[in-house]
Amino acid sequence: MKNIQKMLEEHGISPSFQRMKIMEYLMHNAVHPTAEMIYQALHEQIPTLSKTTVYNALKLFSEKGMLVQLSVFEPEVRYEYNKEPHIHFKCSRCGKLYDVAVDFNCLKDGVIEGHKVLEHHVNLKGICRECLEKEKADNA
Ligand SMILES: [Zn+2]
Ligand SMILES: [Zn+2]
Repeated sequence: MKNIQKMLEEHGISPSFQRMKIMEYLMHNAVHPTAEMIYQALHEQIPTLSKTTVYNALKLFSEKGMLVQLSVFEPEVRYEYNKEPHIHFKCSRCGKLYDVAVDFNCLKDGVIEGHKVLEHHVNLKGICRECLEKEKADNA
């Protein structure tokens, strides 16, 4: 929690207990949660937490560049802590959203075919390895 407090302060955010808990959840649960999922996960241990607080904190973190907002093949926004560049793979069977590492060296200078890259949003959809394994097992 100490590190999170420092991190928030460095981004010019006053580190309230609730904000720190929300950021902690995002950093330790790389499941690309929606605001609703974060609220559901935290409101039992923080009874004073309101949905508005969650929404406001997510908005603030996003504005400060600490979070990435995703809307991958779905209308509801999901959030993730801003880390190494990666792309997303959504399983159309179980609905899980996976992080996939790809080689971003081609974007090293941030320029592709003369265009300067500031963000990337590459989304893949298919059947995840767990579902494929399950399918194999079911057919055996
Ligand atoms: Zn799946
Ligand atoms: Zn991700």
